[in-house]
Amino acid sequence: MHIHKIVLPTPYAIGDVNAFLVKGDALTLFDAGPKTAQAYEALKQGIQEAGYELQDIEQVVLTHHHPDHAGWVDAFPKAEILGHRYVDYWMRQTTEFLQYRECFYRQQLEQENVPQEDIARILDAREELELFGTRPLTQFIQDGDEVPGHPGLIAHETLGHAQSHLMFVEQHTGQAIGGDLLLEKVSSNPLVEPPVDLQGERPKSLLQYNASLKKLQQMDISTLYTGHGEAVTDIKPLVTARLTKQHERAMYVLQLMEEHRNVYDLTKALFGKTYAKQPGLTLSETLGQLDYLVEEGYARSEMQNGVEIYIPA
Ligand SMILES: [Zn+2]
Repeated sequence: MHIHKIVLPTPYAIGDVNAFLVKGDALTLFDAGPKTAQAYEALKQGIQEAGYELQDIEQVVLTHHHPDHAGWVDAFPKAEILGHRYVDYWMRQTTEFLQYRECFYRQQLEQENVPQEDIARILDAREELELFGTRPLTQFIQDGDEVPGHPGLIAHETLGHAQSHLMFVEQHTGQAIGGDLLLEKVSSNPLVEPPVDLQGERPKSLLQYNASLKKLQQMDISTLYTGHGEAVTDIKPLVTARLTKQHERAMYVLQLMEEHRNVYDLTKALFGKTYAKQPGLTLSETLGQLDYLVEEGYARSEMQNGVEIYIPA
C-alpha cells in the first residue's frame, strides 16, 4: 500500500504524532492528531501535499482513543469513523461513562495510597478531555477484521498501551500501521484504564502489553509505521530489547520493595520529581511493574486497610 505520512504537533511530552493517509479502494486517514489549532493546520497541509482536500477523506480509522491520535475526527463530519468499540466511550463522553471513569480511578488511586489532593488533581482532567474528538464511531473494528476499502489489511487487537489498541497489517506486503504498540525511540506506557465492559477487574495493562509485543514479534512485518517517530524495520530485536529493559526495571522495583510497600511510595522512590509532573503516567508504570512481579512469582500482594501492599515472595 502507498502510505503518505503526516507529522502533527502535540502539546504532550511525547512530541509530534503521526497520521497516515492511505489510498486504496477508499481514501483513509489512520489517526487524526490532537484537537488543537496547530494540529488542524498541519493535518490540512499534509493532506493537501498528498493531493487531496480534507473533504476527500472517506474514512478515519483509529489505532486507539488517546487524544494525540483521535482528536480531529471532528474535522471529517462526512467521513466514516472506525475503531475499537472502546474508543466510542471516549468520543461520546456520556455522563454515565464519565462517572464510571471517575469512580474507577478514585478507587484505584486510593488502593495505591495516593494522597487525596493528588487524586483530585489527577481526576480533574477536563483540559485533557477537551482534546478528544466528539464524533461517535460509525463502525466498530474487531480483531481479525479487514479494513473496509483496503483488501488484505487486517486489524489485530493489541491491548496494553490503551484498552482500544489496534494495529493494521497488510499481509501480502508485511507493511503495518502500528499505533503506539512499538515506538522507535521510547518505550510505550502501559496506562491504567477502565475495563472495556465498564465492569469487573482492572485490566493489567503491562501484562497485556507484553503479550501484544510477543504477538508482534511473531508476525512477519517488513515496515512498521509507528504513531511517533520513524518507522521500524528491524522489529524482533527491538521487541526483545524492550522486554529485557522492562524485566530489569521490575527487578529494580523488587529491590525498592525492601523499603516501600505500596504503589504511591514505590512511584515516588522510582520517579522522584517526575511523579509531580506526570502522576497518572508514573503510577501506571509502577503498577505495571508490580503486576509483572506478582505474575512472575517474585512478589505477592494483600489489602491492608484499603491499601494494596506488595511483599517480596
Ligand atoms: Zn501516542
